[in-house]
Amino acid sequence: MKSDRGGNIHTTAGVMASAIFAPQYFRFCPECLQKDLDKHGETYWHRLHQIQGVIFCPVHKITLQNSQIPIQGFNKHQYEAATESNCQTGDLKLNYSQTAIKQLINLAQDIAQLLENTYTSRTLEWFTKRYQTLLIERGYANVSGRVKQEKLIDDFLYFYDAEFLEIIDSTVAYKDRSNWLSQITRKHRKVFHPIRHLLMIRFLTDSIDTFFHNNKQYRPFGKSPWLCLNAAAEHYLQPVITDLEVTHCLENKKPLGTFSCSCGMVYSRSGEDKTEEDKLRIE
Ligand SMILES: [Zn+2]
Ligand SMILES: [Zn+2]
Repeated sequence: MKSDRGGNIHTTAGVMASAIFAPQYFRFCPECLQKDLDKHGETYWHRLHQIQGVIFCPVHKITLQNSQIPIQGFNKHQYEAATESNCQTGDLKLNYSQTAIKQLINLAQDIAQLLENTYTSRTLEWFTKRYQTLLIERGYANVSGRVKQEKLIDDFLYFYDAEFLEIIDSTVAYKDRSNWLSQITRKHRKVFHPIRHLLMIRFLTDSIDTFFHNNKQYRPFGKSPWLCLNAAAEHYLQPVITDLEVTHCLENKKPLGTFSCSCGMVYSRSGEDKTEEDKLRIE
């Protein structure tokens, strides 16, 4: 933001990459406001409440209200503090379904978690790889990474309430193959709105923590070292092999491991190692 090209910050962050609505006014939660007054004797603008997509207070689970201070169109150099008089609770009521409200609150909680934690900054390539691993693990892509778009869209639209997706401008059009969901599963040549990443993360994992921390690679044959299956070698059935090459069978898409041992033995095995016996297969 401080650089000469700081004006690009919205594009870089993906905020301009979609038409997700921008709030018009600084917003507040009436219950947070009361709590601030009781605790500090004054209130302040809560950072979280100003973020796109945060429509409910994740703590009090009530609709955020508009203050009388517009976000744009007033003197930029003038500071307007939040006060009781410019933060008056209006009659803003949203007629959303219970499911949509629940998912909006979940989203607000995820955004709060992002703000409160310092997750390592990741490149677009990292996200592409992480999504690909998860899509394979969850059965939405075959081992070579080809995404099963229909299954993905079906399950995504089952997982997320249609009204919820509409509110945050992230509807997925089933017929449209250039929809954002299909695009985000491909190589990231473009940026996506952070909300859409959060939708993906919730869909593919149980939490943001899991997504960022459990970065295990796809390992169909488990971890190195692997057993040598050369009956003539002294280290027969010992875990001594560290050289494994994984390719994928074109016909059945199963992983094919080629194990090369220091004793000269090379063997291949297709399909994942699911049991201890699998580790002794040569086929
Ligand atoms: Zn609140
Ligand atoms: Zn060997």
